[in-house]
Amino acid sequence: MRTLCDVCENAAAILFCAADEAALCRACDDKVHLCNKLASRHVRVGLAVPNAVPRCDICENEPAFFYCEVDGTSLCLQCDMSVHVGGKRTHGRYLLLRQRVEVCVSPLY
Ligand SMILES: [Zn+2]
Ligand SMILES: [Zn+2]
Ligand SMILES: [Zn+2]
Ligand SMILES: [Zn+2]
Repeated sequence: MRTLCDVCENAAAILFCAADEAALCRACDDKVHLCNKLASRHVRVGLAVPNAVPRCDICENEPAFFYCEVDGTSLCLQCDMSVHVGGKRTHGRYLLLRQRVEVCVSPLY
């Protein structure tokens, strides 16, 4: 789930220009903003880096560890444990963070 550049619609956007109301990739940001003085003053805010850790859909606070394909939600460790109890334990979940696999102490399936 990444934002595509509004200009080339090809690369992942890394910046959002409020003046242009456009999301831009690095190359298009250079193209659009470096070529003219007025545009170079546009304030751009950085977008989340592509592949950045998604947030938990439940508490919207912790980084998500799991994606539940049944619920279609991303969950942090804490919310996963509180949501997937009882009959929901059978929900197929994917680990979102490869590098944190070791925290997954209980079998998920
Ligand atoms: Zn672009
Ligand atoms: Zn701009
Ligand atoms: Zn959570
Ligand atoms: Zn689920």
